[in-house]
Amino acid sequence: MTKPIFTIIAPIYNELENIPELYPRVREVMDRSGEPWELILVDDGSTDGSTEVMRKLAENDPRVRPVIFARNFGHQIAVTAGMDYSRGDAVIIIDADLQDPPEVILALIDKWRQGYEVVYAVREERQGESWFKRTTASLFYRLIYRITDVDIPMDAGDFRLMDKKVMAVMKQMREKHRFLRGMSAWVGFKQVGVPYKRQPRYAGETKYPFSKMLKLALNAVTSFSYFPLQLATYIGFIAAGLSVLAIPIVAILRLITGTALLGQATTLIIVLFLGGVQLISLGIIGEYIGRIYDEAKNRPLYIVAEAPGDFDPDTVNGDQVNRE
Ligand code: UDP
Ligand code: MG
Repeated sequence: MTKPIFTIIAPIYNELENIPELYPRVREVMDRSGEPWELILVDDGSTDGSTEVMRKLAENDPRVRPVIFARNFGHQIAVTAGMDYSRGDAVIIIDADLQDPPEVILALIDKWRQGYEVVYAVREERQGESWFKRTTASLFYRLIYRITDVDIPMDAGDFRLMDKKVMAVMKQMREKHRFLRGMSAWVGFKQVGVPYKRQPRYAGETKYPFSKMLKLALNAVTSFSYFPLQLATYIGFIAAGLSVLAIPIVAILRLITGTALLGQATTLIIVLFLGGVQLISLGIIGEYIGRIYDEAKNRPLYIVAEAPGDFDPDTVNGDQVNRE
């Protein structure tokens, strides 16, 4: 088999009805590119029969290479596995639910041919998504943009093309809690956005409930910013400053007017407020410590149950080839 120029990665978690639509559309688009390509389908612990459909596709078309996980590891890890198995000169990540139209891939490839190393697709419009999803996503992108030290493009998801130079760096970054779009921005190189209209899901339900979205958001913030850790310092300075101001005010009031500040309520409110702030700060520290602990344990990123025949044994189980 000739070495593919393009690798398409689609993570799959219970997308039974979407795969039979995804494959022909990717095939049609990629054949138009005029270069050899491969489609890596990463089965992230599907239980609805998606796995069998993927195996069938691979039997009929050797360009389809399924990587099958031992269980569900999550979207970002599934994409990571796809990257580990990729062989193309350019790697394109796409959702399996056809919210990212495969036709846009040609526009990404165009930019790559012009010399850009990361080409991310920017959501100009989002169709068929709830008000809640759109608002939280928009808020999230803006928050991330403000508090992180990396210029993570706004309104861009994981739908993007990365050159093999970028891929080589990404493969070395084995952090356990991953925010891939941040990592691919962090790498640098020549980056550019291409606008597109995000479509409604072709079939099925979203596999990103609120809890998973929150986890991704926390991973994004903790991976790229210390700001939450510094919050405690800022609030501490403000509280200490206020109390220093309050001492002379209370003393003067007492001396001049003879009134003492009375009431348990004020005391109680302040104690509860500061107690709350302290607990939240502890929780924030906990988020970082938990992540440090996961890094220290250094478990494999994912466990592969079944991989393409000609896979590189060193990358099995997400363990890095270059690690000494
Ligand atoms: N996905 C996955 N593992 C998961 C959750 C999602 O591989 O634990 C895949 C899913 O099959 C889809 C892509 O990630 O191809 C994006 O998920 P989804 O469309 O549910 O997210 P949304 O577009 O609603 O944010
Ligand atoms: Mg989707």
